[in-house]
Amino acid sequence: NVTDYIWQNLDKWADKPAMICGITNRSYTYNELYKYSRILAVKLRTQWDIREGDITCIMMPNNPEYAIVTLGSLEAGAAVTTINPLYTVHEVQRQLLLSNPKIVIGSPETIGLIKEACKNTRMNLPIIAAKNSNESLPPETISFLELIDDRNVDFSVLNTVTKNIDDIALVPYSSGTTGLPKGVELVHRTLVTNFVQQDAEGIRHYQHTTDSHQESLLAVLPLYHLYGLAVILLQKLTVGAKIVTLPKFERKTFLHAVKEHKTSLLHLVPPLASFLGSHPSVEDEYLSHIHTYISGAAPLPKQDIFRVLEKSKSNVDFLQIYGMTELSPLATTVPPGSKNYTSVGVALPSTKLRIVDSDDQNMEPNAVGELLIKGPQIMKGYRNNLEATKAVITDDGWFRSGDLASIDYDGVVTIRDRIKELIKVKGFQVAPAELESVLKEHPDILDAAVIGVPDAKLGEVPKAFVVVKDGCKQDSTNVKKFVEDRVASYKRLSDVEFMKSLPRNPSGKILRKVLRENYS
Ligand code: ATP
Ligand code: MG
Repeated sequence: NVTDYIWQNLDKWADKPAMICGITNRSYTYNELYKYSRILAVKLRTQWDIREGDITCIMMPNNPEYAIVTLGSLEAGAAVTTINPLYTVHEVQRQLLLSNPKIVIGSPETIGLIKEACKNTRMNLPIIAAKNSNESLPPETISFLELIDDRNVDFSVLNTVTKNIDDIALVPYSSGTTGLPKGVELVHRTLVTNFVQQDAEGIRHYQHTTDSHQESLLAVLPLYHLYGLAVILLQKLTVGAKIVTLPKFERKTFLHAVKEHKTSLLHLVPPLASFLGSHPSVEDEYLSHIHTYISGAAPLPKQDIFRVLEKSKSNVDFLQIYGMTELSPLATTVPPGSKNYTSVGVALPSTKLRIVDSDDQNMEPNAVGELLIKGPQIMKGYRNNLEATKAVITDDGWFRSGDLASIDYDGVVTIRDRIKELIKVKGFQVAPAELESVLKEHPDILDAAVIGVPDAKLGEVPKAFVVVKDGCKQDSTNVKKFVEDRVASYKRLSDVEFMKSLPRNPSGKILRKVLRENYS
């Protein structure tokens, strides 16, 4: 069970800070986290009749209370679904209808929108708000801080909660990079397994410090996404780390928080790595406490890694992790100390990987094909969608990643791109991520995305969307030539369009589908 696993070492770090708001410094120690989560759990059971099998829904930006409402819901026996706080009413409605929660927990930023979505869907959901500012709350909203400020709580209520490791604990949604986001059912067993896999001897990320509870993390990546929730928040609570939350990425506050809280382990996604490496305001003094960067969620151009390393102290580690919402979420990691920056490392313990061709036949080492994964961290299934579940999990339990990858003789995995995104130029397949990485080697280019566009002769050809750095000027002939000099002739760009910025989702992934829609 996720909460029991987190609480088991409570005595070791009881009075150390667990959660801190990077803006207001509002904080909770591990003991407070335990106490308030359990108070919330009692209230959820007694005031709202939350029971095993029910879903609670969280929709708020990153804040310290995120941990309390997640753990409180789990303590009450419920499962948690998380909604992107930037969603529109329409998107919130869709997720509410799909996940069918019994209660919604919001914050001053999201509460108005939640109420509107509930009204439109005729869902009469009680709403409580994690009040994290001085703003007043709308009527009929229960203040979270008042709710947990109660000395007369009867904790014996929680003795009746049945805890089964095969119960659903989280229902996060996939990022919606390739289609609409899919609800993923994860049970306690798979989540705890992935915590243990992440912390396993030999691949732990805390080798630079004597103890994991000395670690200071910055949670600026969204907590509603499983990378944030399971890797940056929940798993780090199992090792006693300090987690500083920022509600959104804002350059100055971000850099201030990194320095002020002496961030030692910094989780990244590619655009954040690119920012650290390229932005002139990121001076080495901000990064002086960081011993490890960890990046995941999307392909990372190697140029960005080298730029970050140049600004950092000499003995830092830069690791990539690879996973997906359906894998609780991690499948691989790079062991600390490795200088192999461009791979995503090796399989986590108890995880098997193989590469197959389009007929599902195993391929030789170094050959490029679809990556299949087998391990105890695979999801139970997509919520209310047996057909979609069957399409990705084979009869003998292998999960189809949909990602194109290769594995070398030492078991080291390199991710090329998603199979769905490949550009088919005559008989050849071109991975957009490879061209994006080449484009980012250009000194004037800040960001780049590549898609396939129809071509009468070749079927499809690559087209690039490029953002140039401030003060730089480029023309498409130059950019095309730059790429042409570096890749095989069938990978040449047909066209270059200059943009102010690229469409990305909050987990840092390029939304090539948006570029394609706009193109057509
Ligand atoms: P959807 O499934 O809704 O289209 P999504 O696949 O982006 O969205 P997630 O579960 O958040 O949703 O992301 C998993 C995907 O992210 C992987 O399948 C892979 O394509 C990509 N990914 C994750 N880590 C890495 C990495 N280190 N390098 C390259 N790609 C990565
Ligand atoms: Mg996916």
